[in-house]
Amino acid sequence: MPRSDIADPHISLLRAARKPAARFAALLIAGVSVLIIGLQAMETWRGRDLRLREAEVATANMAHALSAQGETAIRVTDTVLSSVVTQVEREGWSGPPGERLGKYLRDVVAEAKEVHGVLVYDADGNWVVNSLDHAMQGNNADREYFRFHKASGRRSAHVGLPILSRSTGVWVLPVSRRINRPDGSFAGVVVATIRIAYFAKLYEGFDIGKQGTIVLARDDGTLAYRRPFEDTLIGKSIAGGLVYQQYKRTGPVGNATLPAQLDGIVRLYSYRRMDSYPLLVIVGVAKDDILSGWRSSAGQLFGGIGVVVLMLALVGTRLVRQIRIRDELEEELLSARERLQERNAALTELAERDGLTGISNRRHFEEALQREIARAARSGKPLSLIMLDVDYFKKYNDHYGHVAGDNCLQQIAAALPVSLDRPSDFPARYGGEEFIVLLPETSGHGAFQVAERIRSSVCALNIEHAGNPASVVTVSLGVCTALIDADSPPAPEALVEQADCQLYEAKRLGRNRVSIAAQASTALLQTA
Ligand code: GH3
Ligand code: MG
Ligand code: MG
Repeated sequence: MPRSDIADPHISLLRAARKPAARFAALLIAGVSVLIIGLQAMETWRGRDLRLREAEVATANMAHALSAQGETAIRVTDTVLSSVVTQVEREGWSGPPGERLGKYLRDVVAEAKEVHGVLVYDADGNWVVNSLDHAMQGNNADREYFRFHKASGRRSAHVGLPILSRSTGVWVLPVSRRINRPDGSFAGVVVATIRIAYFAKLYEGFDIGKQGTIVLARDDGTLAYRRPFEDTLIGKSIAGGLVYQQYKRTGPVGNATLPAQLDGIVRLYSYRRMDSYPLLVIVGVAKDDILSGWRSSAGQLFGGIGVVVLMLALVGTRLVRQIRIRDELEEELLSARERLQERNAALTELAERDGLTGISNRRHFEEALQREIARAARSGKPLSLIMLDVDYFKKYNDHYGHVAGDNCLQQIAAALPVSLDRPSDFPARYGGEEFIVLLPETSGHGAFQVAERIRSSVCALNIEHAGNPASVVTVSLGVCTALIDADSPPAPEALVEQADCQLYEAKRLGRNRVSIAAQASTALLQTA
C-alpha cells in the first residue's frame, strides 16, 4: 500500500471534531431564539386568557348589579301597585276615596323617580284614577297587560310589553296588578309605568367599552332597553339571538362568547334573570375592547423580542461565519499538512526505491538488515542473505547496449519476488548489476533453495547473451546464514561481506551457481 493512501488518524480526528462546531453554534442560536419566542408566546397567551377571565368576572358582576338595580326599581313600583290594589279593593275609586287615591298617586310619581305614571282602570279598561294632574279620559282595554289581567286570575305583578305612553308619548315599561271585587271577579287593573329612559340613565353609568352592550328584555325575548339606545328597537324580539337561546337552554345565570344577532360583533356576554320579575339583563363587552390593551402590549413585547432575536441572529450569523472561516483555515492547514505528509511519503518512497528496477534500493536494504539483525538477535532464529551478480554483464552491455542492459536488470529484478515465498523476504538492488535478498528466519538450507530458485528463474527468463557460455543471462549467487548473538551482534557489513565472499566463490567456481559457506567463518557468524 502506498504510504500516501494511509490517512493520518490525527487529521481525521481533527476533522471529525471540528465540523459540527458551526452547525452546533447555528443550532444553539436558533434554539435559544425559538425558546425565547416560544416562552414569551406562552406567557402572552396566558395573559390573554387571564384578561378574558377577568372580563368574564367583571361582566358577570355587572349583570348582577344591573339586574339588582332594575329589580329594585320594579319592586318600588310594585309596592305602589300593592298599596293601590289594597286601597281600591277596600274603598273603591268613587268620591273622596278616589280623590285621595288620585292625590296619593300624584305624590308617588313626584316622589319616586322610577315611577313615570300610575293609572287605575275599571273592568272595561276606562281610566278611573290616575297620577296625571288634569282629569284625562281614555280607554286601555286593548293593552296587553289589561287583557292579561282580565283573562288571568293571578294577583301577582305582571311586567308587560314596552309601550309608547298614550298620556305622555314616551316609551315606558308597564308593571301592573289585577283589582278584584269582593267576590273575586275582575274589577279592573292598576298599572304603574317606568320610563325606559330611567333604565337608560341607570345603565349608562357602567363602563362597557366602545362596543359594549346592555340589554333589558322580557323573559319572552321582547326588548325593553338596549344600550346603545335606539327606540326603534324597543319591543323587538331577541328570541332568535344566540345569547337568549343559551339562556333558555341553560338557566337564569350564565356566560357566553358569541357574535351578536344585531351587529355581528363578538362579545363576552353575561346574562342574569331577575329573581322576582320575568326580566332578563344581558351585559356584553366586545372581545376586541377587552383585548385591545393586551394586543398593544403584546405587540410592543413581540416587537422588543423581535429586536432581541434579530440581534441574536446577527451576532449568531457573525459567530457562525467566524467559525466557518476558522474551519476553512483549519481545513486548509490540514490539507496542506496532508499534502506535506503525502509528499514526504512519496519522497521516502523515492528514497527507498531503486529508480531503474522499482525494487528497494541499497539504503532501504541496509535499514531492513539492521532491523532484521536486531529481530534475529531477539528471536534466536537464523537470518540469511543472498548476494547475486549478473554474469558477464559488462559483455552484455558491450554487445547489446546499455539500454538493453537496463532492460535485462529490470527483468531480473521482476523475477526475484516470484522466487520468494514469504512476505518478510526482502529483495533489493545492491548496486550495478548486483542484487541482494534478505531472508529473515531462514536457515542456510532454505536460503540455498531460494537462491537456487532465483538462479533457475533467471535462466528461465531466457535472455539471449552471446558473451555468456550458457548463451543466456545467468547469475551467480552467494549465500550467507547467521545466528545472531544478542550480546554482541555483528555489523551488517560483515554479513554482506560474507555473502559477497560466497558470491566471489560462485564466480570462481564457474558462475551460474550458488555458493554457500560450509561452516561458520567467524565467532559471530555461523552457518545454520
Ligand atoms: P562478472 O561475471 O565477473 O560479474 O563480470 P561482469 O562483466 O559482470 O563484471 P564487471 O563488474 O566487470 O562489470 C559490471 C558491469 O555492469 C559494468 C557496468 O557497465 C555494468 N553495469 C553496472 N550497472 C549497470 C546499469 O545500471 N545498467 C547497465 N546497463 N549496466 C550496468
Ligand atoms: Mg558486479
Ligand atoms: Mg557481474
